[in-house]
Amino acid sequence: MQLATKLIHAGIEPDPVTGAIMTPIYQTSTYVQEAPGKHKGYEYARTQNPTRTVLENAMTAIENGTYGIAFSSGMAAIQAIMHTLQPGDEVIVSNDLYGGTYRLFTRIFAKYGIRFRFIDLQDPAVLPDILTANSRLVWIETPTNPLIRVIDIAACAEVAHAHQVKLCVDNTFASPWLQNPLDLGADVVVHSATKYLGGHSDVVLGVVVVKDAALAEQLHFIQNSAGAVPGPHDCWLVLRGLKTLHVRMQRHCENARQIAHFLRQHQAVQQVNWCGFPDHPNHEVARRQMRDFGAMMSFALKDDRLETAYRVLSSTRLFALAESLGGVESLIGHPASMTHASIPREERLKSGLSDSLIRLSVGIEDVNDLIADLDQALRQI
Ligand code: PLP
Repeated sequence: MQLATKLIHAGIEPDPVTGAIMTPIYQTSTYVQEAPGKHKGYEYARTQNPTRTVLENAMTAIENGTYGIAFSSGMAAIQAIMHTLQPGDEVIVSNDLYGGTYRLFTRIFAKYGIRFRFIDLQDPAVLPDILTANSRLVWIETPTNPLIRVIDIAACAEVAHAHQVKLCVDNTFASPWLQNPLDLGADVVVHSATKYLGGHSDVVLGVVVVKDAALAEQLHFIQNSAGAVPGPHDCWLVLRGLKTLHVRMQRHCENARQIAHFLRQHQAVQQVNWCGFPDHPNHEVARRQMRDFGAMMSFALKDDRLETAYRVLSSTRLFALAESLGGVESLIGHPASMTHASIPREERLKSGLSDSLIRLSVGIEDVNDLIADLDQALRQI
């Protein structure tokens, strides 16, 4: 089955009781048993919920995995993966990543004895020298947030596996429509479904998909034991979002292509980070592992002062100044004070994230309106 068909049908059966084509929202906390232990596979809603099961099965099929496990947020999903580690374990992390993930790693898990090393992984050839006997996991986001660097998933998987280390890919920025990390050798794929999967800025949810049965069992155990599960209505919202992921992504990418080119020729703009440009340093990797170049980009102004960036950020009318990404509406953001505020300034600057960088999540509005909006905002400086 092709991906576009899977997005609509995979994992979804008409409701056995009524024939309803849309998966019902099973808003229940518990399930009646015929006799102790004799039940229809559902006992308590933290452990299992039929709406959640359908979403988990759909995501498993869409990411070409074997097991899907849903969580109450992208961060809860990432947290569950970290709970599979032991004190003394080491994680190699790509150094340009979501600030919340950086915060979870450095402020919460580091104090339990897990070591995180943040490395520029644009050249995976550096990995063999970095991995140690304690390394358990390589953690990458690609394209990276917010600098839109692209990391070679297959090359990282090859090196990691040669050292008995697992590779986890946060696929939030690309979405499964643009890349499927498990097909490229990753062991774990994680999503903030809050973004493109939900797609309408109305839900917070996370999903992990894996192939390995033992790892899936561990994650299910953590899901049930720690209890960061999504409610059935939220699962249903993501299921509904999935059905239009492909058409939304096509328009997101098409709009982003035009906006990236518009910004690049603009006299006020110094640099545009978007991996679709043939001269982007990782363009060849992006062409190889992605189906299109995505709708996330960031740009720096020629006038690098913070107040100038702020003027642009507060002058757009269609691009809403807000955290998050991947919804149908276009968003503009300031990573240094918003999504990446929890990364110390020196670390940010080291990875190339300047104080004045502006990030765009390009929505699916009419592209001419979006360009006109950016044009008038850039004229305010
Ligand atoms: N991963 C990435 C790349 C993100 O951008 C985010 C949130 O912005 C997350 C994970 C966390 O997801 P959530 O906000 O659903 O907890």
